[in-house]
Amino acid sequence: MPEGDTIHRLAGRIVQRLAGQRCRACTTRDPRLVGVDLAGTTLLDAVAVGKHLLLRFDDGRTLHAHLGMDGSFTVGPRSRLAEWRRRLELRFDDGWLTGEDLADVGVVATADEPSLVGHLGPDLLDDDRPLDLGDAAARLGRLPDRPLAAALLDQRNVAGFGNVFAVELPFLAGLSPFQPVGLVDDLAALVGTGQALIRDSADRGLRNTTGRRLHVAEHWVYGRAGRPCPLCATTVEGRDERSSPWRRITAWCPTCQPLGDTRMTVDVVRIRRLLALHPARRHPAFPAGS
Ligand SMILES: [Zn+2]
Repeated sequence: MPEGDTIHRLAGRIVQRLAGQRCRACTTRDPRLVGVDLAGTTLLDAVAVGKHLLLRFDDGRTLHAHLGMDGSFTVGPRSRLAEWRRRLELRFDDGWLTGEDLADVGVVATADEPSLVGHLGPDLLDDDRPLDLGDAAARLGRLPDRPLAAALLDQRNVAGFGNVFAVELPFLAGLSPFQPVGLVDDLAALVGTGQALIRDSADRGLRNTTGRRLHVAEHWVYGRAGRPCPLCATTVEGRDERSSPWRRITAWCPTCQPLGDTRMTVDVVRIRRLLALHPARRHPAFPAGS
């Protein structure tokens, strides 16, 4: 499932393969793109903002896409998906760009990009504007009754976390995903951990939150409902999209992640112990030990 790291890498691949090239043919199969023809324009840049992809063309237009749960882009070779799933096909001098099953797509004036992404919180992967962890923590906590996982997923707070991180970060911190975010101390350490992990995922192209077998996408509790917790062997609990209050699959260990009705603190000692072997520790945002 696409998270900020996926979009960041996708934008990098598009720039590498197609930036500076002229679009030779444009085919659209999406009602939101009726009348759009990008043929004759040159692709200037591809930018990821949170989970949004922005493709800027030299005629002052930006193609905006959000992949949602199932969307994807094929960069370079021609897509072989069924035609009706190829919502947008651009042929460039040297390769194709095909948007498939896009959840959201449209074209705006480049100057109007803020209308699409202006509501987003600070971007975890924006290299030009380093994330202020204190500010990000304050944004996460501004609706104090919200469950922690829901606050992490709300892109208006911080842009980039998807569901893998919304499940894994509470486990790393020793907090229930249902813990009201207003009853969590040291959210900055949690954001810092998440930023270090998502940066590592973006750099290596593999979403690993354990650091144990780094060459595989390995997680502590994500996707492990009904199986034993890798730390304490308690059966991992889970909710599906319909029964979770924030409409996404979730999983948690009831022993490692107790729900507290008083204040709880992000357990930095636990984070540092669980990620003892993870290269994300080298990121400056990773919480320091005491
Ligand atoms: Zn456990």
